Amino acid sequence: MTFVVIWSSLIFLMGAAIGSFLNVCIARWPANLSVVKPRSRCPRCERPIAWYENIPLVSWVALRARCRGCQLPISVQYPAVELGVAVGWLVCFVAYTDPFTALRVAVFGTVLAGIAVTDLKHYVIPDGFTVFGLIWVVTTSVIGFFLLQGSGPFVDPYQALIGACVGAGAISIIGWLGEVVLRREAMGFGDVTLMAVVGAAVGPTSALLTIFVGAGLGAVIFIGAVLPIGWLRSRQSGTPFTPPLVPFGVFLAPAALVTLVSGQAMIDWYLSRLH
Ligand SMILES: [Zn+2]
Repeated sequence: MTFVVIWSSLIFLMGAAIGSFLNVCIARWPANLSVVKPRSRCPRCERPIAWYENIPLVSWVALRARCRGCQLPISVQYPAVELGVAVGWLVCFVAYTDPFTALRVAVFGTVLAGIAVTDLKHYVIPDGFTVFGLIWVVTTSVIGFFLLQGSGPFVDPYQALIGACVGAGAISIIGWLGEVVLRREAMGFGDVTLMAVVGAAVGPTSALLTIFVGAGLGAVIFIGAVLPIGWLRSRQSGTPFTPPLVPFGVFLAPAALVTLVSGQAMIDWYLSRLH
């Protein structure tokens, strides 16, 4: 019992610390800044942040969400990402008894979370996330296949190679057709690199399923929330209504996680309906 509590706490704290680093990546990579140097600063008054002001979750609450230098509010994104990653890591290590599989899912999920938040805030998917993600997915696929004889929900290295090509290829074709129909850029290159990483993790069939689920999720949220809210706001302010831009990566990232965990079950269910 005690062991479970200590083990769970350690996983949670590790997740919170990684979430804290993820915040640095989200803030700096879109501006092409290093995530190592310089030390963390307040983005508004540039005051350096001491280590005790930078403790995940705790400091945001202790500082009452304000910078000690300029007193301006610190975004709720910081504790939200830290808490989300901490809970996500804990869930992974509870759900997967094999620690190697738990670690693979946890890191993959963290990269996807970083991509979703960055794409939502900055309309860009930095190479830092996708390059690290691809190296992580392929390396652990090779280790899992040749050394540990187990892949968990991930595919073997051969399927990973085909999956990366199918994922990136399919999203490129959709983006190209979208451009022809909409007469403007429909998809960024970040979506292509994201789908290469996702394809390497889930394989070719589930890569296509990810795009399908992501498009469905995007359509539901866009029609159900983004459009009505945008329309109401434009009516209140009396400005002409232009549909807001929502980047596709925001929907592809959670769709990839859903597909990784339950993609095979979804495909099996669909195929069983055909008979
Ligand atoms: Zn400040």
